[in-house]
Amino acid sequence: MYDLKAIIIGAGIGGLTAGIALKQAGYEVSIYERVTELRPAGAGISLWSNGIKVLNQLGLGREMAAIGGEMNRMEYRSHRDEALSNIDLQPLFARVGQRPYPVARTDLQQMLLTAFGEDDVHMGMKCTAVEQTDQKTTATFEDGTQVTGDLIVGADGIRSIIREYVLDEVLSLRYAGYVNWNGLVPADPSLCEADNWVLYVGEGKRASMMPVGGDRFYYFFGVPIPIGSETAPADRQKELAQHFSGWPAPVQTLIQTLDPLASNRLEISDIDPPQHFVKGRIALLGDSAHASTPTLGQGGCQAMEDALVLARFLVTTNISVADALSRYEQVRKERTAQLVLKARDRTDTIYAKDEDNTQDWYEQLKEEPPEAVRHALEKIILGGPLG
Ligand SMILES: Cc1cc2nc3c(=O)[nH]c(=O)nc-3n(C[C@H](O)[C@H](O)[C@H](O)COP(=O)(O)OP(=O)(O)OC[C@H]3O[C@@H](n4cnc5c(N)ncnc54)[C@H](O)[C@@H]3O)c2cc1C
Repeated sequence: MYDLKAIIIGAGIGGLTAGIALKQAGYEVSIYERVTELRPAGAGISLWSNGIKVLNQLGLGREMAAIGGEMNRMEYRSHRDEALSNIDLQPLFARVGQRPYPVARTDLQQMLLTAFGEDDVHMGMKCTAVEQTDQKTTATFEDGTQVTGDLIVGADGIRSIIREYVLDEVLSLRYAGYVNWNGLVPADPSLCEADNWVLYVGEGKRASMMPVGGDRFYYFFGVPIPIGSETAPADRQKELAQHFSGWPAPVQTLIQTLDPLASNRLEISDIDPPQHFVKGRIALLGDSAHASTPTLGQGGCQAMEDALVLARFLVTTNISVADALSRYEQVRKERTAQLVLKARDRTDTIYAKDEDNTQDWYEQLKEEPPEAVRHALEKIILGGPLG
């Protein structure tokens, strides 16, 4: 289809990637973002090869490689510092044709923003309603502004308001049962080797570090805690020291090293896979359609895949915008639903929803051949639109 005007709500990973893909397809694109300054939730993100392939396709491979960390291995250790598994990831990269890149979120967001064009992102614009006729779509903002276009992409995250319009119902967030702390620290060999992703697991908790670009490690901790807990930023080191008391030296060093005021503390939720991603000329994309727990590291990658597939159907078919969007829904619904449910299952195992199950998993980590882990990752990666 030619000469379309697309309105994107939300300038996160999904909205910006969709914006780049739609602009490259020759469409007029504007992004409207609620906040006045972009501050991504979370300090780092691991973009697996399927997400990077989308960026390559959009001509951003070089930029991505410049900001990404080099992660060649993945190592599981127990909370008593016992080696559980050590997986060389390089055979996986050779098989799928692209390495993954862990990256600081602000670097990723800035790279995407520059590639899209900052002038076409309208900040401080909170969308309050969307509507459509057979011919056009309209988004209304809190300040009363209305904009019209040929389609609207609701890339407005896990608490999407556009999802309510598309589904005609409110989908509740489902608390995953654990709290995540994350941030960045300077790279240091006493914490973790520079090309290694290390995960300490035990007592239904985990602590992890991985290299992102700029000589930094992205760290995260996860602990099962009932919903509704809060801790002042200044108390976060104390809180982590209690949860991870007796854990190995690198975990203790990490807790002492991290800047509590720059750390994030999040209660993790997902949503049930919805029945639809699309209503007429209005489509959901990214977390608004399929917010997932982060245990597979696929949420952002799936938002990127969505962006590519959406643009591809708009470019390669010419029946109607609604028809192209429904083709997008058909392709994306099943893949993302499977990953949301797989991540949910993995989350329950990691965070001891059933303690016996979690103990079995710790045993399994010791016995599982590295090839099985590589194969599981390969299957997820190659299931993407670019193979
Ligand atoms: C702790 C954690 C770790 C993760 N790790 C990984 C990982 O390693 N790998 C991976 O691939 N994924 C990971 N994810 C998932 C990933 O962060 C998300 O899937 C991804 O950020 C979704 O992008 P999005 O653009 O759909 O939504 P968001 O990033 O949430 O962006 C939505 C944007 O819309 C804006 N917005 C919301 N409402 C409105 C409105 N009404 N009007 C205008 N603008 C609005 C918001 O301000 C925001 O900027 C992780 C998630 C978490 C929480």
